[in-house]
Amino acid sequence: MRLLLVEDDKLLGDGIQAGLHQAGYAVDWMENGEDAEAALRTEDYELMVLDLGLPGRSGLDVLKSLRAKDNDLPVLILTARDTVSDRVKGLDAGADDYLIKPFDLNELNARIRALLRRHKGRANPVIAHGKLILDPAAHTVTLDGAPVSLSQREFAILQMLLENRGKVMSRARLEEGLYAWGEEVESNAVEVYIHHLRKKLGSGLIRTMRGVGYVIDKPA
Ligand code: CA
Repeated sequence: MRLLLVEDDKLLGDGIQAGLHQAGYAVDWMENGEDAEAALRTEDYELMVLDLGLPGRSGLDVLKSLRAKDNDLPVLILTARDTVSDRVKGLDAGADDYLIKPFDLNELNARIRALLRRHKGRANPVIAHGKLILDPAAHTVTLDGAPVSLSQREFAILQMLLENRGKVMSRARLEEGLYAWGEEVESNAVEVYIHHLRKKLGSGLIRTMRGVGYVIDKPA
């Protein structure tokens, strides 16, 4: 899953990017509002972590113009200014949640998971598909009660397919979710991960749509 981080504080941005990367997200990090808007125009993200106090175009401006375009991307705002009015302005401008700096990375991760599942229309924190259960918080997968060991990228692909059941995900779309800008995409990587997933979870789970992509069907 690919996230956009907008933060002008280099030390903090670096820490957040590393923390989110470790949690399995591909993270593009922009240091100002103009770059964030350029990235939003060209890339597909699942969520944006947005600092409000940015040089030049403010986080609030970025948020307002995003919502003016009817873009429903989940947005979590960060603010150092511990004033009620900033948070109210941010939420009223279309933010879905906020954190006040300094914050704990574990809390940021938990809030991101909550926003992503709500955005996908889920209240249950685990994703169940027949005998397969994926827990995004614990980063575990079980099949018929038995733990299945997956690499971080296998896990990410499985989660993307499960969260988009019934929708065909193209190879490019899956790659976007795996790799941030500047990361080298290995050729055929997605095919290799799918192959591993089928070996571990059975060949019937993920269907190949020739020339289009991959899909996990909705449960009957
Ligand atoms: Ca700032």
